Amino acid sequence: MKKLLIIILSLCCLQACKEHNSENAKDKFINDLMSKMTLDEKLGQLNLPDWGSVTTGTAQSKNITDKIKQGHVGALLNIKGLANVREVQRIAVEESRMKIPLIFGMDVIHGYETAFPIPLALSCTWDIQTIKQSAQIAAKEASANGICWTYSPMVDIARDPRWGRIAEGAGEDPYLGGQIAKAMVEGYQGEGEKAFSTNSQIMACVKHYAMYGAAEAGRDYNTVDMSRIRMFNEYLYPYRAAVEAGVGSVMTSFNEVDGVPATANRWLMTDLLRNQWGFKGFVVTDYTAINEMVAHGIGDLQTVSARALQAGVDMDMVGEGLLTTLKKSLDEGKVTKAEIDQACRRVLEAKYKLGLFQNPYKYCDPERPAKDIYTPENLAFARKIASESFVLLKNDNNFLPLNRKGTIAVIGPLANTRSNLVGTWSVNARLDAPKTLVEGLQEVAGNQVKITYSKGSNLTADSTLEKNATMFGRSLERDNRTEEVLRNEALRIASQADVIVAALGESSEFSGEASSRSDIGIPEIQERLLKELLKTGKPVVLVLFNGRPLTLTWESENVPAILDVWFGGSETARAIGDVLFGDVNPAGKLTTSFPRNVGQIPIYYNHKNTGRPLEKGKWFSKYRSNYLDVLNDPLYPFGYGLSYTTFSYSDIKLSAKELTEKGELTAEITVTNTGKRDGTEVVQLYIRDLIGSITRPVKELKGFERIFLKAGESKTVQFKITPEMLKFYNYDLKYVCEQGDFTVMIGGDSEQVKSAEFTLK
Ligand code: BGC
Repeated sequence: MKKLLIIILSLCCLQACKEHNSENAKDKFINDLMSKMTLDEKLGQLNLPDWGSVTTGTAQSKNITDKIKQGHVGALLNIKGLANVREVQRIAVEESRMKIPLIFGMDVIHGYETAFPIPLALSCTWDIQTIKQSAQIAAKEASANGICWTYSPMVDIARDPRWGRIAEGAGEDPYLGGQIAKAMVEGYQGEGEKAFSTNSQIMACVKHYAMYGAAEAGRDYNTVDMSRIRMFNEYLYPYRAAVEAGVGSVMTSFNEVDGVPATANRWLMTDLLRNQWGFKGFVVTDYTAINEMVAHGIGDLQTVSARALQAGVDMDMVGEGLLTTLKKSLDEGKVTKAEIDQACRRVLEAKYKLGLFQNPYKYCDPERPAKDIYTPENLAFARKIASESFVLLKNDNNFLPLNRKGTIAVIGPLANTRSNLVGTWSVNARLDAPKTLVEGLQEVAGNQVKITYSKGSNLTADSTLEKNATMFGRSLERDNRTEEVLRNEALRIASQADVIVAALGESSEFSGEASSRSDIGIPEIQERLLKELLKTGKPVVLVLFNGRPLTLTWESENVPAILDVWFGGSETARAIGDVLFGDVNPAGKLTTSFPRNVGQIPIYYNHKNTGRPLEKGKWFSKYRSNYLDVLNDPLYPFGYGLSYTTFSYSDIKLSAKELTEKGELTAEITVTNTGKRDGTEVVQLYIRDLIGSITRPVKELKGFERIFLKAGESKTVQFKITPEMLKFYNYDLKYVCEQGDFTVMIGGDSEQVKSAEFTLK
């Protein structure tokens, strides 16, 4: 035993020495390098221009090649093509005085050329391993094309579906968001010691720090204002999870926090991020976020640039505020040399970690693009993960899956598009390669089925709105015939079919950045078409495309089957076929509540009880917290999603009724597949802290397990409950658990749960 202990201790020492030595080697290398750099060259490292191969903002960078030669560029974003990357890197390492390699960044958000479902859809898989694998594949493809830095994961909690960027995150729950954040970071970078050890691993950048998803009224870039209690208990967890997973960089957000724009918020960037959470990487601004602080009204460019640096910003995306004003600020004593050195050092450290000093062309292997990008394996994975992300919202009388026979009319503005299927924020995706829904369904259905098609309506009646919602090469080819002519043609085709698949909803750019909506229904022109299709008396399945929760109150009452397919990436069409024809049994579960109407927003499952809660199941009660004209409950709750089979849950068995501060207990439940098909269920664990020193949510997700059950099979799922899981930030922002009673709830969504009680002693 003693010997074993000695061996373990020696191994630990060896490891510590190894780490210490490599830290020493890094510091020595960077000290040496920095001792030779001029002030201008140091400022150059803080500069991140946009090459312009893709558009992700309005400002443009100029004379980039000259700046690289002068040592005025530290990294580049939005450059496409391996040959371009290689040549630009050559200029940096051969034609600049210090020969410092560049970092090449890109928004690789949900896949690269092979696109996976939009992040909100990915989160609906609740399949952490598969999500991680999606990040690994994305990193492999991007790195094959010279990219070594991605602006992902986006982990902003969002509870307002008017906000278009809800599409880019993992929904409304901090715990699930944190699990996904960690998986994505580890997927992109690799884990621990192994991070960046191969040329398929790239640096992640968690964004947008912080609270960007809480923009007032769901309007993008709008003001955010919230209590620290809410920040700590509800919004910050996923960013912190990314930091704990070793994320290499953090991106500031456009919004203000506590009255100070995030990009100049020292409490956020330094006190919390670095001093409390121990973040060791570098902080980059969002696109021109420094310059935008002039419009925020906190000073001119020189002032806001100095404030950003002092807050803890290390790199300036596109705006060049740091590059052009810090010298003056230094001369005037407004910033110090140490502050500039620190930022420069952090950028150089990232390059060191990535291995770029050893080999600036690490990510420039000319053999790789053909071998690694858009491969049949990657596409097969895309198809699988897309089908996992779909959420079956309604399926009256087991209408789905469809039989492989007869005629199916596919009707709607989303039925015949390739470019829209990949979803928003897919600047590298192949837009013309995906199958259209019509083609995909035909392929999966086989030749026993006749698939017919008619557009039926444009996306929206308003052509300007349609133009704005189909930017970036995602046109839906607006049809100039009248609404009536288009609809009549569709009705004629539909009347000859056995089943109607209505492909309706949003286009891909209806959500995403700067794509907020005030009305989040299916556009009226499409709804009118849907009503007419239903009047034919033919069975109708609504295949819904959307980047956000939509208000579907009418649809949920009148359409027999609704499959929410979000935007599923390159293999959307085939994956829809897989699910519609029953080759895949849907298992996706919502990660955002679907409101009944816009007036209910913000609506989220983990809300507080208030002092006047409405009794469960009631509509209205005077002097209670409710509405006169709509229920309190969402239309579809967090965690909800149907399957082609059914699951039943036993009562919960607790291993004990009491938990001590050092102990743990087990909550056990048996889930049975009570239907006729095999299927996957996401078993969800929620806990409510019944009495606290501050008010606590009515329930919080604390665990989940995705289980596969054959028809008729039962499985017992066990969740460990520890005091750690009961902790929250109290009024003094101390992370504590408090003695008292708790309810544990387990079920297939946040509302249909079994419950049991225990006490923390
Ligand atoms: C977005 C970021 C993105 C950046 C670079 C900004 O407009 O807010 O999410 O990473 O552009 O493309």
